[in-house]
Parts: sequence; C-alpha cells; structure tokens
Amino acid sequence: MQIAANKAVSIDYTLTNDAGEVIDSSAGGAPLVYLHGAGNIIVGLEKALVGKQAGDEVNVSVEPEEAYGEYSAELVATLNRSMFEGVDELEVGMQFHASGPDGGMQIVTIRELDGDDVIVDGNHPLAGQRLTFAVKVVDVRDASAEEVAHGHVHGEGGHQH
Ligand SMILES: [Zn+2]
Repeated sequence: MQIAANKAVSIDYTLTNDAGEVIDSSAGGAPLVYLHGAGNIIVGLEKALVGKQAGDEVNVSVEPEEAYGEYSAELVATLNRSMFEGVDELEVGMQFHASGPDGGMQIVTIRELDGDDVIVDGNHPLAGQRLTFAVKVVDVRDASAEEVAHGHVHGEGGHQH
C-alpha cells in the first residue's frame, strides 16, 4: 500500500541538522505514527513520502519554508522583568505561552537576560534550519473514518482517547 492522503503511516526516522547533529530520532523507541495529509508532520517530509510503501527508505533535506519556517527577527522582543511577575527565577531557555500578533498562542523562549531586560524569542527552535530526515517506512494502512475526522491516528503510537 502506498502512502497517500488518509493513510496511517508508521516511520522510523532520524533528524539531523546541517552540522550533522542528531536532533531527534525514533531509534530505540517506537516508530512515529502519523495521519498522512493532515499536517501532523512538516510539509516537506510529507511530500517526500508520497507514494512510498513499507520497507522503502527515504533521505530528504527540507528547506526551512517547508519545515519550521524562516527565522524572523520580528519575533524577538525585549520585555521588562516586571512582566514576569510570579515567576520566582528567570533563566535562559525557559519557555512561556504568549499571545502572538495574530491573537493565537505561541511559545516564546528566553534567549538572554540583561539586568531588567528579558530578551524573548517566539521562533520555533528549528526555525531557519534546513533539516535532513533519514526515514524508513515501517507500515502503511488505511486510516479509519474516525481517525480522518479527528485529524490524527489512534491506537499504538497515536492518540489514546
Ligand atoms: Zn482522536
């Protein structure tokens, strides 16, 4: 069975950046299970997997625009420490939910602390990076009508509800 929209797909994968560092991998754990065509995984990887079947191996480099987007300097802001009232101790790397420019929620990460200045960054940690995936397709099956309606896979490796 070939990968197409509304298939439940299981993959083993290793994700590396341009420096060759492993960012994420399913090695040693269960395969990643996703619903194809539902935006569960980044668009560049989804495109590369169309038409593949169990046993196929795919190596693909995905540019930022089809991964986590270009790095945007506009998403970096300097806030005053007083805006973090209630947080005992601020540290670089801490993440907070904030309302974004479009009104939606976004996650911001503290990049730098400088006196009362807190420099926060709303970019995805992998924004601006080209990502290389080494993928082996483990299984392809038809998604159930319920999975398609929910936009995700149920059962092992999927949503448990
Ligand atoms: Zn569901």
